[in-house]
Amino acid sequence: MNKSPRSAYVHIPFCHRRCFYCDFTVIPLGDKIEPLKGYGSKTINEYLYFLHKEILSIKDKSPLSTIYIGGGTPSILDPKHIKGLIDLFRDNYGIDYGAEITMEVDPASFSADDLYGFIKSGINRFSLGAQSFNNKILKKAGRRHLREDVEKSCFWLKKEYEAGSIKSWSIDLIQNLPLSNFKEWKEDLHKTLSYCPPHLSIYDLSIEDGTVFKKQYDSGKLSPPCEDESYENSKLTSSLLKHFGYSRYEISNYSLPGHQSRHNRVYWKGLGWWGFGQGSTSSPWGKKLTRPKVSFKYKEWVNNQCEKMLDSSLVDKDHFFNELDEKIMLGIRLKEGINIYSLFNEHNWEKQKCVINYGKLLKKWKIFIDSGLLNKCGNRFFLSDPKGMELSNQVLISMFKWWDEIN
Ligand code: SF4
Repeated sequence: MNKSPRSAYVHIPFCHRRCFYCDFTVIPLGDKIEPLKGYGSKTINEYLYFLHKEILSIKDKSPLSTIYIGGGTPSILDPKHIKGLIDLFRDNYGIDYGAEITMEVDPASFSADDLYGFIKSGINRFSLGAQSFNNKILKKAGRRHLREDVEKSCFWLKKEYEAGSIKSWSIDLIQNLPLSNFKEWKEDLHKTLSYCPPHLSIYDLSIEDGTVFKKQYDSGKLSPPCEDESYENSKLTSSLLKHFGYSRYEISNYSLPGHQSRHNRVYWKGLGWWGFGQGSTSSPWGKKLTRPKVSFKYKEWVNNQCEKMLDSSLVDKDHFFNELDEKIMLGIRLKEGINIYSLFNEHNWEKQKCVINYGKLLKKWKIFIDSGLLNKCGNRFFLSDPKGMELSNQVLISMFKWWDEIN
């Protein structure tokens, strides 16, 4: 039987307003939130009540080695709220010595005093949702903050890191936002690097259904960088960050030595985790369970779980962590790639089945190996950087076809 997960994700859905590209589970509360007593506090405190209840409802609790408070905009909360959450885990699950405890923060939603309060609460790693340093790009993306807010936040985080108050911090950027052509992207990267963040997450813009960007795109009012431009941007990202000592340890993540995100590696390695809060996904034993995305349904779900003594930790304890195809999809995004044969063995495939299916996969992937998108070292496969990382979809689509054919 698998052990209880050692990692927990906590979703805080509140934001000031919805950014134009965002399709996450978000509750926009406006610009003037006072999280403890004033405007918005009733909604926030009610949500936290259910969140605490859900966290407590798990029976099979193990001490945690990573906690990730994401959103939404968790930095809208007061440090007292954050302390309440961390204490709840500490008192009921236990938190390992040296655990990684990350919180997402958004420029213009916290002060230097708040940051101090979050650190005192137990947060030792921060992820700053900067997205860009360029005011025109930020405005076009519907972000609420300005360049000076990002600069201030970076300054505070760098200072705390250098003082040893936190273990690490990260900047999030979005590549290929509208108006972010080669020149603007280069400026954004250089500005980011001037703060020496130990970790960087760089996501490609994706235009999702239901967003303002999607409407603008469909009506021809949005023109993000074209395919060639975005490839040039990717090449620049890869070479510049390599030059500054960053390792691209996952397709969208770069770190200086010793600063990989331990929490994210749990997802990518297909290990189990708890996911708490509206719209979040839990995968304690391999099978995924997503909480309702609408507030009242989430609250009903929590009550139901507790009243009927249901425990999401009891779902399919003997289920394998993630399906094999999902493991390949996540593993191939990592710098070290995946050993296909080890995965087959983990799933107890017989020797003959391994040989036949390996041969079929290799046949599908030969074209990518020959064209330099995919590297093969024994039975280990990994994407080349930047070409393979940029065109990873082609490799994945062929893998999913292989999976469909053999099942
Ligand atoms: S701040 Fe983040 S979560 Fe909130 S709307 Fe913007 S992108 Fe989405």
